[in-house]
Amino acid sequence: MARRTAPNTRRPKLGSSKSVAVDPSTKRRFQQRLLKWYRQHGRDLPWRKTADPYHILVSEVMLQQTQVDRVIPKYQEFLARYPSFEDLAEAPVGDVKKTWYPLGYNIRPERLHGIACETVGRYGGKLPSDAEELLSFKGIGRYTAGAIRSFAFHEDAPILDTNVIRVLHRVFVAKGEAKAQKTSLWALSEALIPRGKGYDFNQAMMDFGAMVCTARAPYCLLCPMKSFCKSYPFDPTGRG
Ligand code: SF4
Repeated sequence: MARRTAPNTRRPKLGSSKSVAVDPSTKRRFQQRLLKWYRQHGRDLPWRKTADPYHILVSEVMLQQTQVDRVIPKYQEFLARYPSFEDLAEAPVGDVKKTWYPLGYNIRPERLHGIACETVGRYGGKLPSDAEELLSFKGIGRYTAGAIRSFAFHEDAPILDTNVIRVLHRVFVAKGEAKAQKTSLWALSEALIPRGKGYDFNQAMMDFGAMVCTARAPYCLLCPMKSFCKSYPFDPTGRG
């Protein structure tokens, strides 16, 4: 399964960027087909069975740079050892790093521990849902804030990780370097969310990027977006 690269942990830049124009009919078709695909093919993942912000946060931090199938057992072990922000905040950071092993990228357990300490110290053990407050935490960037708001608090907040960048760029842009267009892709990610369905829509985008519109060999022939995708048929050699 595809891994997610570490999200930008800095605050969003508010610089101007060309917006991506999507006509209403294409937008509607994308939303409907994505949600339908997700109902039929979405992955059954343990962090989709909870709305506990702490559990969501742990899963999101673990999924940065690590494949889903490696995260699942560690996620369960970690939560059994540290069931709450308070438990994690009270633990010595060295122990937290040992529990984290062998996931790697050891800055992540340190950050998670720091977020737990701040949550307990500043917010009485309850992670806030406000975007600005979330972004004020060291270790919570725009992606993670969006994921927490969307997956824990069921807000229609946008997300933009590697999978989502790839899908949106291929379907709606198909020109230039995708990662250089993050500002407009953030705006597009937000504009596409069907009202009140941010949770499913964002989960669907991540699954779709991991399972259909994959980095190297996307399944274009079977893809429900192929009738309007600007990259169809995608040529992984870049010669198309
Ligand atoms: S048609 Fe191909 S490139 Fe376009 S969204 Fe589907 S899988 Fe991705």
